[in-house]
Amino acid sequence: MTNAIVGFITKAETTHQLTKPEIVQLLSDDTINDALFAAADRVRKKYVGDAVQLRALIEFSNYCRQNCCYCGLRRDNDKVDRYRLEPETIVEFAKNAAGMGYKTVVLQSGEDMSFTVDKMVSIISKIKKLGVAITLSIGEKSYDEYKAYREAGADRYLLRIETTNRELYKKYDPDMDFDNRVRCLKDLKSLGYELGTGSLIGLPGQTFEDMAGDILFFGEIGADMIGMGPFIANPDTPLAAAEGGTYTTAIKMLAIVRLLMPDINIPATTAMETLTPEGRLVALKSGANVVMPNVTDADHRSKYNLYPGKARLADSPFRSIASVREKIESIGRFVSEDFGYRIKTK
Ligand code: SAH
Ligand code: SF4
Repeated sequence: MTNAIVGFITKAETTHQLTKPEIVQLLSDDTINDALFAAADRVRKKYVGDAVQLRALIEFSNYCRQNCCYCGLRRDNDKVDRYRLEPETIVEFAKNAAGMGYKTVVLQSGEDMSFTVDKMVSIISKIKKLGVAITLSIGEKSYDEYKAYREAGADRYLLRIETTNRELYKKYDPDMDFDNRVRCLKDLKSLGYELGTGSLIGLPGQTFEDMAGDILFFGEIGADMIGMGPFIANPDTPLAAAEGGTYTTAIKMLAIVRLLMPDINIPATTAMETLTPEGRLVALKSGANVVMPNVTDADHRSKYNLYPGKARLADSPFRSIASVREKIESIGRFVSEDFGYRIKTK
């Protein structure tokens, strides 16, 4: 552990700024990990406190028109048993979540074109009446669609940039365009959504420079939430044989993001838990302050296979809030009672 690198941690903790080469050095040196995680935990406590925000995740359709090479839901994967929930079922799941005490419902799906603007607006309006905040994670849409959803009551939007290395983006998101994804993020921001983005950690060919670039991008785009997770190879995709990202690198990215963007919301993601038992709890102690329990029924959840191992995770949606609460309290934290909007301090 060299003094220079320890100095970067101190600098990040006090000024919330690092250069790209400094981030690369932190990512490359594993002797500083404990100091890095401890600093991120202190900054988390100082800026967002001990409350953990819970968001109820509903995976409402696994149809997707896109063909992202890393993802199990990609259009060309004919091994997927495709489903889409009826609008009434989605609202019913949201009602159950609200009844359990969740203050936010996250609606996630592949890019399923059968959910027209009118259909989505109707679902969003009905869920909004339940008195919860709504997060959407339904992919790339036009400005007008984003506007319609916002006016219907959607508060937040999650759209990961996935990687800011344009070459890799082109390779792994063959039908998509990097500039259009950035356009989406800017549109969402301008419409007043709380903006969530993030990236995959450990895509084949991705370097620490690329990851440092991702972190700087998050700041530039004005993100309010950052969701990151290790890339986990899915056997039914072109990246089946890839090694995948490591838990350690993912959690280091999380910690650095907390140091540089101290007041944002950062989830401890399911992909982290998939690689390491209790991985989400460790993430909560390394800068994270959000958990997104899955409240989709087990049958559909098992078909929403972005990557292997994901489905086995959550237990019954109706029991999980109690077990999540217990785990959160076991590390000296508590479940937030409010909507969990970002409270900007800088
Ligand atoms: N279709 C929407 C939302 C569903 S995908 C969208 O793409 O925005 C949600 C996230 O799952 C993606 O952003 C991606 O980062 C993640 N994901 C997909 N395949 C993965 C894999 N193999 N390992 C880890 N995360 C993956
Ligand atoms: Fe579709 Fe999202 Fe998977 Fe890409 S990452 S294939 S857009 S579900």
